[in-house]
Amino acid sequence: MKKIAIVGGGIIGMTLASYLDKPNVHVTVFDNEVGQATKASAGIISPWLSKRRNKQWYQLAKEGAAFYEKLVVDFQLDHSVYTKSGTLLLRKKNDLVDLASLAEERKQDAPEIGEIALLSAEQTQQQLPLLGKFPALKISGGGRLDGAAYLNRLKKRAALNGVTLCQMAVAIKKEANHWVICQRETGESIDTFDFVALTAGPGLNQLLTTLDYKVDIRPQKGQLLSFTTNFKESTHWPVAMLDGESDLIPFSDGTILLGATHENDKGFDLTPTKEAYEHLRTVSQPFLSSDILFSGNLPDFRVGTRAYTSDFAPFFGPLPDDETLVVASGLGSSGLTTGPYIGYLLANYFQTNTFDSTLYQKKMETYIQKR
Ligand SMILES: Cc1cc2nc3c(=O)[nH]c(=O)nc-3n(C[C@H](O)[C@H](O)[C@H](O)COP(=O)(O)OP(=O)(O)OC[C@H]3O[C@@H](n4cnc5c(N)ncnc54)[C@H](O)[C@@H]3O)c2cc1C
Repeated sequence: MKKIAIVGGGIIGMTLASYLDKPNVHVTVFDNEVGQATKASAGIISPWLSKRRNKQWYQLAKEGAAFYEKLVVDFQLDHSVYTKSGTLLLRKKNDLVDLASLAEERKQDAPEIGEIALLSAEQTQQQLPLLGKFPALKISGGGRLDGAAYLNRLKKRAALNGVTLCQMAVAIKKEANHWVICQRETGESIDTFDFVALTAGPGLNQLLTTLDYKVDIRPQKGQLLSFTTNFKESTHWPVAMLDGESDLIPFSDGTILLGATHENDKGFDLTPTKEAYEHLRTVSQPFLSSDILFSGNLPDFRVGTRAYTSDFAPFFGPLPDDETLVVASGLGSSGLTTGPYIGYLLANYFQTNTFDSTLYQKKMETYIQKR
């Protein structure tokens, strides 16, 4: 029996655990759920028209978005967890024409983009009445994921399939040829494992530092606003990527998310701030049809910590100098899109002992080095 510990129960860790529930493997997931990005996230799965020029990232994000077809079937995700809502992109009129031709070009090898349509200002508002009258590009293949609901679904399934879930902060050390997982605060040993997967988001740094590695990972604070509304028709509304850095994401229960901030200088701070509220209000209000969201009760905040690297690219896989230690982090703002696919690729590694991800990322040594 292969014993595998997964440290970090966000979207990568739980997807990995769920694809590993085979009879010859025993999996334990350790997670302290502090600042978890997956639970705090906005939920947009729509990477195709990103301005990023990193080809390896695009390949991963494109395949990650396509992978949702399989994920929905494998884990029986219903519309309350994931739905192909479609995406509206609001830009200046000339930019929309360029964006539409980029979408047509990318659709050649990403048919998941679906239908591409330039919408008039009236049509945009019909699609999502919260928006003012602006022309938009609609792609029908865009989706929205409720990160917290996804994790709940997978946790229930994992528990039924014999995966052990432990809510605690842990540290790791190597003794002889096995891994020891200890309670982080007391140092008390909990259990030993043959393999460890560290899917701890920005917490990877601390875990690897104690093993004498240097890691290129930083925390980024993300805040978004969550409005509770009675909109019944929100089930059919698409998500909207507004011009600038804010997104509007309607969920089927009437929850409307607006976000998110990208704060690189706040470390692991999780305090909701008035500045974030004012910023999100200022950047989104010009696009809204009325003051309806901001005139009612104050919204709730969601705050999480993303992990990012110097070149904003993720990394994942076994460490070159120890193939029993697997890591994945640095998913930044697009981890709901790439995370499940990364979890699946790591599960394949544990099952086959082979791993080649040159299509998707630079060498692991770019991000992690022995001191
Ligand atoms: C506000 C916000 C909005 C976002 N919106 C989107 C979006 O619209 N689309 C998109 O694609 N992506 C989005 N993202 C990004 C996405 O949420 C993340 O990239 C992704 O969830 C990262 O997943 P992960 O599994 O790597 O890490 P996480 O989900 O952060 O999980 C890591 C877990 O490890 C645990 N952990 C860390 N150290 C330890 C330890 N020592 N012991 C035990 N547990 C530990 C943490 O508590 C945490 O629960 C957003 C993120 C934020 C914050």
